[in-house]
Amino acid sequence: MPSRSPTRSVAFSNLTKVFFPASGFTKGDLIRYYLDVAEAMIPHLRNRAVTVIRMPDGVTGEKFYEKNAPRHAPPWLETTAVAKQDGGVTRYLVVQDARSLAWCANHGAVEFHPFLHRVTNRDRPTHAAFDLDPGEGADLLTCLEVAFILREILARLGLESYPKVSGSKGLQLYVPFNSTVRYDRVTLFAHTLAELAERQHPDLVVSRMSKALRRGKVLIDWSQNHASKTTVSVYSIRGKREEPFVSAPVGWLELERAAKSGNSDGLFFSPAKALRRLAQRGDLFAPVLTRKQKLPAIFLAATATGTPPASLRAYRTKRDFTRTAEPAPAPARGKTSRGRRRFVVQKHQASHLHYDFRLELDGVLKSWAVPKGLSTGLGTRRAAIQVEDHPLAYAGFEGTIPRGQYGGGTVMVLDHGTYELLSGDHANGHLKLRLAGKKFVGEWHLFRIKTETRSPTWLIVKAQKPARPLTRKQETTSVLTGRTMEQIAAAADAVWRSKARRTRKKPRARRAATRTR
Ligand code: MN
Repeated sequence: MPSRSPTRSVAFSNLTKVFFPASGFTKGDLIRYYLDVAEAMIPHLRNRAVTVIRMPDGVTGEKFYEKNAPRHAPPWLETTAVAKQDGGVTRYLVVQDARSLAWCANHGAVEFHPFLHRVTNRDRPTHAAFDLDPGEGADLLTCLEVAFILREILARLGLESYPKVSGSKGLQLYVPFNSTVRYDRVTLFAHTLAELAERQHPDLVVSRMSKALRRGKVLIDWSQNHASKTTVSVYSIRGKREEPFVSAPVGWLELERAAKSGNSDGLFFSPAKALRRLAQRGDLFAPVLTRKQKLPAIFLAATATGTPPASLRAYRTKRDFTRTAEPAPAPARGKTSRGRRRFVVQKHQASHLHYDFRLELDGVLKSWAVPKGLSTGLGTRRAAIQVEDHPLAYAGFEGTIPRGQYGGGTVMVLDHGTYELLSGDHANGHLKLRLAGKKFVGEWHLFRIKTETRSPTWLIVKAQKPARPLTRKQETTSVLTGRTMEQIAAAADAVWRSKARRTRKKPRARRAATRTR
């Protein structure tokens, strides 16, 4: 517990030492700033472990990225022990009050970088942070464009975001949750949104870390949303340049004005300017601490922890999960009951009517588009075009993919069940299966006949003996809901519409999209 004894004071030293040569900003100025800003800043640091960046000789001297509290730290300075992956512990500082902040500044701490979670619950970030980092040839104005794009995507999901300048070259958007949401979900959410923004504006946005990709663009760094990552605190001074700038909260209106005028000079805040704004406008970041917002249900659907299988990347990059109710990639669950694996046949009225055949394998649904569907006649071959792996939850997807989205049209679950892999393997292009569905029962074989394209062609053949042909009713109705394609299309109930979200608390879309298993 922090001691608040007023009798113990901090002894300051070397107050006249210049820390930022371009403006003559001294260590004394640094300490005074942190004492003045403490009332607004401390709530954002309270009960959070922090990493500090110490520059004992100012910004032109050596910089230490310091995780462990110094050994000589006074006993009243609070710390928290966090186990390291390789054993041992890190004793992080927890800056609980103005005096602790001033003590750190006196020891040359210029920057404060807290975690997204509090020490009381390390699995739960209180907010998401999108770090917009301009590459070479891009600047803060470029970041503004990307911030507006992200704001729009978030707004479609019913989420309010709060911007602050990084105090360096970029901008950060915070999305408060203040709920029980866990890191794995928030990581998935942030990654998906960053990729979506990149897909919509490939000329402006990158979501991958490689510096080479960043030229003239803005990196949306989603990877900060992780239990091991810290982000610079609101109101922290940055030690990146020879004059001090503050990571200050800004209003959307200010950003719009700056973008309109093409001048971002007003978005650089000296410590004095940051304090003046604070006095005039209060803490613009206060809602980040209190506002409760829910992660969209689509990102909460999966129950397992971990990350989605890497082979779902193609699936993810083709879809806008703020527009379609198709399931977002999720970590694989454990084995299905009795070790049996699922298959599904979906009837899909996209630009052309076709059937999608999917097999649970390696934590994903291996998928084929079968233009004519599975044959029941012995030896009848049907072409099956291999498409991208789909998440397991897709086996339960029935509904309408909005027009204009990838695969836009109506999807019906024609049949589903479990299957037994009799022999063969997917990588070698040969699978012998025994399906136990409600409609399709028996043995089918799959052979890959063309590998050179991005969508290898296979043949699916009825083997062993003929199967009972589907009745007219079986052919035209969902095994899941008994509905016809027309009824599903009319219900349009898996379309994720932002309008519907605002007017209805529990859109039917949600239930339709997450139903089954
Ligand atoms: Mn399809």
